[in-house]
Amino acid sequence: MTLARATEVLADVFGFPAFRPSQDEVVGHVMDDRDVLVVMPTGSGKSLCYQVPAVARPGTAIVVSPLIALMRDQVEDLRARGVRAAALNSSLSPEGARAVEDELVAGTLDLLYVAPERLVTDRFRALLDEFEPALFAIDEAHCVSQWGHDFRPEYLQLSFLRERFPWVPRMALTATADRRTRDEIADRLLRSDAAHVVTGFDRPNIRYLVGLDDGSARPQLLRFVQERHAGAAGIVYCLSRRMVDDVAAWLAAQGVTALPYHAGMDAAERDANQQRFRREDGIVMVATVAFGMGIDKPDVRFVAHLSLPRSLEAYYQETGRAGRDGLPSEAWMRYGLADVVQQRRFIDGSDADEEHRRQDVRRLEALLGYCEATGCRRRVLLAHFDDDPGADCGNCDNCLEPQDTVDMTEAARMALSCVYRTGERFGAGYVIAVLLGRDDARIRRNGHHEVSTFGIGTDVDEATWKAVLRQLVARGELATTEHDGLRLTDRSGALLRGDGTLHVGRRRIGAGGTASARTRGRGGAGRPADALDGPQRARFERLRELRRTLAHEQGVPAYVVLDDAALAAIARDVPRDEAGLLAIPGIGRVKLERYGAAFLAALAEE
Ligand code: ADP
Ligand code: ZN
Repeated sequence: MTLARATEVLADVFGFPAFRPSQDEVVGHVMDDRDVLVVMPTGSGKSLCYQVPAVARPGTAIVVSPLIALMRDQVEDLRARGVRAAALNSSLSPEGARAVEDELVAGTLDLLYVAPERLVTDRFRALLDEFEPALFAIDEAHCVSQWGHDFRPEYLQLSFLRERFPWVPRMALTATADRRTRDEIADRLLRSDAAHVVTGFDRPNIRYLVGLDDGSARPQLLRFVQERHAGAAGIVYCLSRRMVDDVAAWLAAQGVTALPYHAGMDAAERDANQQRFRREDGIVMVATVAFGMGIDKPDVRFVAHLSLPRSLEAYYQETGRAGRDGLPSEAWMRYGLADVVQQRRFIDGSDADEEHRRQDVRRLEALLGYCEATGCRRRVLLAHFDDDPGADCGNCDNCLEPQDTVDMTEAARMALSCVYRTGERFGAGYVIAVLLGRDDARIRRNGHHEVSTFGIGTDVDEATWKAVLRQLVARGELATTEHDGLRLTDRSGALLRGDGTLHVGRRRIGAGGTASARTRGRGGAGRPADALDGPQRARFERLRELRRTLAHEQGVPAYVVLDDAALAAIARDVPRDEAGLLAIPGIGRVKLERYGAAFLAALAEE
């Protein structure tokens, strides 16, 4: 059972000519009967690391996964490739489960997905004697960590596999695990001589674009969707259910195929929307963060945040749902002072203990450090996970359009002083109006046209003042009162005394942080079809129509028939026979049998 055999399966079943380097390493270990810990980012091809050995090795591979939606997607995809795959989880009827168990015992499955709580039942443990396990793959292996957010007690029980089947290779896979979690996973689930294959966190195909919400975030989003991702699938994250409903309705009214998703909706409607997102070609899902866990849709071309995510970890996970297929994708965010104030107030008002609150503050600071970064964003993001790409990425807004920083320390001092002189109870708009010396009835009524800071800030424009205040709040040098006023904190003193500095990126000044025509134009939407010329493009659209019909007939998502990359390659190369189709990456033997004739006929018609 060598790597050569696995490479044959890769070509024959999955239609790919070669493993990626980290896959090569992992599959090599498994084919050598070795345990292996796999930490690879989403979209890097983790699933193939167990799917290929599952087919190449005798017996049935058992894949443990807590995500039912993901099991369903993968089973569907594998069956479309002719792999004998099934899933055993709570969505099955007792009869359905029994039928799967019968297949397992009969030895007619290459691969079985099992929910962890089912694997540890006595019933399943008894079954384990009845068939030959090819390997055990434990997905989402970080769930074994008692210190993580996703801890699942059943994962601890999975260690029995190690005692009972010492000769069967085990794989523990995850997309996110720091050092400590990695050690925990290896310690609990794998043999001590297990190989560790850990690649970085980088998702190079995702372009990061972050800008300010200057009050026009929604029209900016619409332009982003229409100009760069027309007809593509995407996710728009919103903070509240109400905002989800609003934004979805608004986008739909502008002609975007947008659907809402949040926990407050009628369950049937919510599931229907999720199904459409999964199966149809270009749906934009507007959702709260409740949406996305276990969504394995490979062709999500953008993830947009209309307000600050909860943390950089959450941002990485949420944006990570873009571009699982490895094709160019975009993570777009707009945020504003109100977001910062809100999160800050949330922390200050929580009844968590002091240590917890300090952690929350650090988390917010890290997030804002990323948002306000003036250098390569990918470096800031990866540094947060102790990862270093070694060079600027060339694929984030700051790399595409470098910006200088401006020293705003003096302005920051003026702002703090102005907050103090006006009594530490007014919001950002009022404080800025005083700094700018505006003629305002409220200011006069309060006598603030007579304080020393009135009109001292006219050299700085309003957008810049906002940037300064945002940073001061983010850094904890300003805090908010119950009524959204700003007040000083025990950290304000340093800056006021002349210690410390504050810098603001130039793009944060004036223009409201909107990406310029240059960033907007460069590289287009980055979808596979964008590299096609006119006639190829028209052919692509016709093939897409055919794909839709085939998917509909077979009741599978469009990408299960063929993904966009394969479709674009066909439109470009126009294969005339079966050998030509087989040369297209992503088309293996079974796909050729199933769909080859239909595509060749469509191409012959031109
Ligand atoms: P993960 O499980 O790590 O999120 P997937 O296994 O879903 O990643 O793979 C992501 C994408 O990369 C899929 O579209 C898959 O077809 C593609 N892919 C994986 N391995 C290869 C390979 N060796 N060559 C070409 N494409 C690959
Ligand atoms: Zn960059």
